Amino acid sequence: MHADQSQFCKAGPAVDGSANGSTSRLPAVYGWAMVRSLFVTKLYEAQIGDDALLRDLAHSIRTLGKDDRAGRDWSKQHRYAGYTSYASLNDLPQRDPAIADVAKLLTKHAVSFTKECGLELERKPRLDSLWVNLLKSGGQHSGHIHPHSLISGTFYVEVPRGSGAIRFEDPRLPLMMAAPARADSFVTVEPSPGLLLLWESWLRHEVLPGTGKGERLSISFNFA
Ligand code: FE
Repeated sequence: MHADQSQFCKAGPAVDGSANGSTSRLPAVYGWAMVRSLFVTKLYEAQIGDDALLRDLAHSIRTLGKDDRAGRDWSKQHRYAGYTSYASLNDLPQRDPAIADVAKLLTKHAVSFTKECGLELERKPRLDSLWVNLLKSGGQHSGHIHPHSLISGTFYVEVPRGSGAIRFEDPRLPLMMAAPARADSFVTVEPSPGLLLLWESWLRHEVLPGTGKGERLSISFNFA
């Protein structure tokens, strides 16, 4: 508790303990009371790129989807509704100038975010992997984390109407054995073209099923 607590050891003022604006009084407080937020989970959101870059990236993703047969086969075998280069190509920034441009932008944002998170690193975070996703109508991606990484994220390139949102899960959930349900255990973010999201890689997330007809194009990545 607070080091100066003794100076408040008198009948203190009534404390508004409400969370919803209605006034409720805590029992008579002798001394003081406070609530601190510990171990806050951070989500980084930014708008990056321009229309020309997004168009180039969309063209690149669709071209990869046609040319990368190993990726198409992997997607089919794993029932991915569309195409992902996740398991087939690990050198996209070297192959594609538009992806090289976006990789540079991602690195700048990832550096900012690691500072914001207070991560004590001996070197700059390094782009460890990057893959593209073309998710078709109705496609989804069940809950997962990105092991062995520091920062993960997604950059949205094309988001037609009805595209699936991304949903993050309270990291404390696996530890809550007898706790009641909470209203804020899941946080859903609606993607839009040019939106960049970054989070710490242990944060569990999923892509909810889309209801639209178009192709949802995105780029996902890990920094280590
Ligand atoms: Fe993911």
